[in-house]
Amino acid sequence: MLYTAGVMGDNTSNTQPGGLVRVAQAALLSPPFSTLSYLLPEGFGADFWQPGLRLAVPLGRGVRAAVLLEVAEMDVAAQEFSFKEVTWPLEQLGQSGPLLTPEYLDYARQFALRQAQPVGRVLSNMIPAGLRDTALRLRFFSPTVPQDMELRKMGNLAPAEREQLAGLWRSGQGKVLHALKSADEEYYVLKKSPPWPVMPSASRQIQVLEFLEAHRQVSRRRITRELGAEISSALKTLLSRGLIELKQQEEQTAEVGASRAEWLEKHGDILRSQPPFALNAEQETALNDFVELAQAKQPATRLLYGITGSGKTAVYLELAARVLQSGRKVLLLAPEVALALKLRNNARQRFPSLPVHLFHGYQTTVQRENMFRALSRCDEPALVVGTRSAMFLQLQDIGLIILDEEHDSSFKQDERLNYQAKELAWFLARRDGALLLLGSATPDLKTFYAVRQGHIKMHRLAERVGGGALPEVTLALMPRTAGGASVLTPEGEEALTACVAAGDQAVILLNRRGYSPSMYCLACGTVARCPHCEIAFTYHKGREKLVCHYCGYSVPFPYPCPTCKALHYLPMGEGTEKLEERLNTLLPTGTRVLRLDRDSTSRSGAMEEILDSFGRGEAEVLVGTQMLSKGHHFPRVSLAIVADGDMGLSMPDYNAAERTFQLVLQASGRAGRGEKPGKVIIQTRDPGHYCWEYILKNDYEGFYQRELELRRRRNYPPFTRLALIRISYPLGWPEGPNLLNTLAEKLQAAGASLGVAVLGPAPAPHPIRERQYRFQCLLKGDDWQRIRGVYNAAAAAVPSGSKLGISLDIDPAATS
Ligand code: ADP
Ligand code: ZN
Repeated sequence: MLYTAGVMGDNTSNTQPGGLVRVAQAALLSPPFSTLSYLLPEGFGADFWQPGLRLAVPLGRGVRAAVLLEVAEMDVAAQEFSFKEVTWPLEQLGQSGPLLTPEYLDYARQFALRQAQPVGRVLSNMIPAGLRDTALRLRFFSPTVPQDMELRKMGNLAPAEREQLAGLWRSGQGKVLHALKSADEEYYVLKKSPPWPVMPSASRQIQVLEFLEAHRQVSRRRITRELGAEISSALKTLLSRGLIELKQQEEQTAEVGASRAEWLEKHGDILRSQPPFALNAEQETALNDFVELAQAKQPATRLLYGITGSGKTAVYLELAARVLQSGRKVLLLAPEVALALKLRNNARQRFPSLPVHLFHGYQTTVQRENMFRALSRCDEPALVVGTRSAMFLQLQDIGLIILDEEHDSSFKQDERLNYQAKELAWFLARRDGALLLLGSATPDLKTFYAVRQGHIKMHRLAERVGGGALPEVTLALMPRTAGGASVLTPEGEEALTACVAAGDQAVILLNRRGYSPSMYCLACGTVARCPHCEIAFTYHKGREKLVCHYCGYSVPFPYPCPTCKALHYLPMGEGTEKLEERLNTLLPTGTRVLRLDRDSTSRSGAMEEILDSFGRGEAEVLVGTQMLSKGHHFPRVSLAIVADGDMGLSMPDYNAAERTFQLVLQASGRAGRGEKPGKVIIQTRDPGHYCWEYILKNDYEGFYQRELELRRRRNYPPFTRLALIRISYPLGWPEGPNLLNTLAEKLQAAGASLGVAVLGPAPAPHPIRERQYRFQCLLKGDDWQRIRGVYNAAAAAVPSGSKLGISLDIDPAATS
């Protein structure tokens, strides 16, 4: 393995004798993510430095978190520069070694290799934030340590005292204190509801009380971040008057830690209990096959292809029970948090006393870290329900991984680090001899192709359980020019009014959050744009902000027009927030409308509340983004409206039709799942698109045939492998264009010699983001190795420390 050069230093504490010295190869968990060499401090003992140990290491003037990959022997005297020493270990060695196991490091290495990324970068994405924190202090608790040495800041240990402290550390008399963690762990809550006995002049106190009322519980860190440090005396007063309270985050890890036998003894009965209904014949057949595979302890993949409401979840749960009974772990994964919550509730209903471990990105960093630690090296069987990041938990002996809605593009992460959850799942399945079960009503075209080619076996659930009919689907034509008009067509409005009048519930899918997607200045006729990306600002009325949905940059509203300074805008187009507002005037008074999108669910727990409230019938209409299109089962919903049917079709992606098909069919699956027949209205400006023909007939296989032929003719996946190279550099950087030209030549040359088609580089569909020019280059080839080869040839031509960024996205979910 190749390592980047060690760190040049002038203040190295170790004298370097000739001959071989043991040196740590440590992967940095922050940029530049390289693997560097460091000397090992004295006093810990040689056996202390085990792979997987987290370290604090010096870099430049700071201290960084790193993971020890291995200890190598090196002739340091022969190097042209001296090495620095590891600052301090970030953890105690547990009974069985460091927190991260060799198996986990191997997982990270494989992942890194595949994505052509440094291991440090991959690890930094895999482990929870708290585990790569260096804002720490060290606490030593031995009577022999003078008091002024008990609490030390990481990094300021004098060489003379280090050896003594190392001895204490080694004997377990020292630990790491997370300075930042307590600020996350402790949160403020209201103790009294309004009206509060506070003088109107005490504006800071009122500000705190109102903030807590709106957010219910707010961590110590967040309240100072959002209200400013000046708030602290108001907090103290309110605490002392008993109006607010400071609480500790609950530890949610109490259940883990039993032995396998104890766990099975405790939960065996509930796992063996009968479901409230007998599985039907199709479900039985599928289940039996899956159970047999899982028991064989050989890696295998299966597809469960079943229309919405056909009882897939019921099969997942019975299968999970069987695998847990055999003492192994189960990962049940959903593409979205809302859907993970739904699966968790299904599991709880079926197995009321069984612990279900939830893991997803909407949890606090402390919750995630606790869960990660608890499940690491845990011997008891465990049912983990979560989103794709749950695959980064350190789990051993997994017997079953289920990816529900396997076609969903949220299983592919495109931000920060690209990966496809399905591949990681397959890696884990191979490692542990587990069954990988993919479930969907509209499988990924590539998955279905693999089935047709005989590579994956599938089971089909063709009927809705209880025989509920599929909904009646119709198209409604939208006017070509939207302007300030409603997104709802007359047909949509009429059906909605009728549905509400009949006492039923309706869902409306509008995949665009905010009030309106662009703001048109009435004085000068321009559209307000993000200064960093040049795309239109979205107006968020409730937040009183204009927000760039591309980079997240926001400005307060009212906002003077950057061109003419006027303050009068015409909101153009309609997002979820405006639709909600419009429905409140359209529908009879007393009708309740709920909204489910990233804004309405920013507070932790809010998503559950909205979904539960709608499920209990406390509102008639639920408006939402794609969060609501999947999986939820609301028996009283008799109408689903897809407000922007062709939004996806306008994307320049090769798989735009497939994704639209899947999204719309999923959304239609929300209607008519109870007693009443359902109705689905799809609004479109392009009623002639071939996609609708198959959606109206609910004909997945017909669509599959048609789409596959198109892909074959145009040479797109599954007939070729596709990757995207993304290149960016800052606006106004003079070296940019030349370097880009050099890269273009390298790419073409490498493509020609490796037999990979190279299209581009060309400006990306959104050519500017966060004051960076963005380019992309499409690669098509027969195998990933060659594609990576082309990328590596180009990446090698970028000087280290260059302002030009280059990354490889294997099998991109979107190219826009
Ligand atoms: P899917 O996951 O395919 O959308 P679910 O598993 O959620 O379908 O099933 C839909 C509903 O039918 C659920 O309420 C579930 O409890 C119920 N159900 C599933 N299988 C059966 C069955 N064999 N008999 C009766 N009800 C069933
Ligand atoms: Zn922006």
